[in-house]
Amino acid sequence: MAWLNMKKSKSDSPVIVPKTLEVDKFSPEFKTNSQLKNARLNAKDFEALKQAYDNCCATCGAQEGETSSRYGNTIIKLQQGHMDPHKDGNDMKNIIPQCQYCNRAYLQDFTFDEKGRVHAITSVEPVKRANETVQDKVYNWLKSKEKNNEAEKQKTN
Ligand SMILES: [Zn+2]
Repeated sequence: MAWLNMKKSKSDSPVIVPKTLEVDKFSPEFKTNSQLKNARLNAKDFEALKQAYDNCCATCGAQEGETSSRYGNTIIKLQQGHMDPHKDGNDMKNIIPQCQYCNRAYLQDFTFDEKGRVHAITSVEPVKRANETVQDKVYNWLKSKEKNNEAEKQKTN
């Protein structure tokens, strides 16, 4: 790869050093964690949202303030989770209550519906963690999608 410099470390294993960081090349949809953290309901609105969910995590159903044996008998605290972590930070309809475990576990990898169910992946990480069979299915589906796209291009030319 042209943009990488290979350097030898003392242990003789290669160290990959990025040659340049082209900051202006990031996708315009990319949001930093601090930008995403700006999307917060005020305390009063979040209380109302939690009540609409019976003070339970939208994803796993754990109730705020209760101890959960599922999570090592720790006290459940509801946080403002994002249905789509990559969506515009100012859309308050994007927020669902999630317990600290669900909110942390899923991070930026999934989108959720309003009932807290996983809807889609938003990063390649879940595919990387999947077993070979699932990875093959994803690969084959993408390959057939690419073939269809190519066929459509041929038709229009
Ligand atoms: Zn949860």
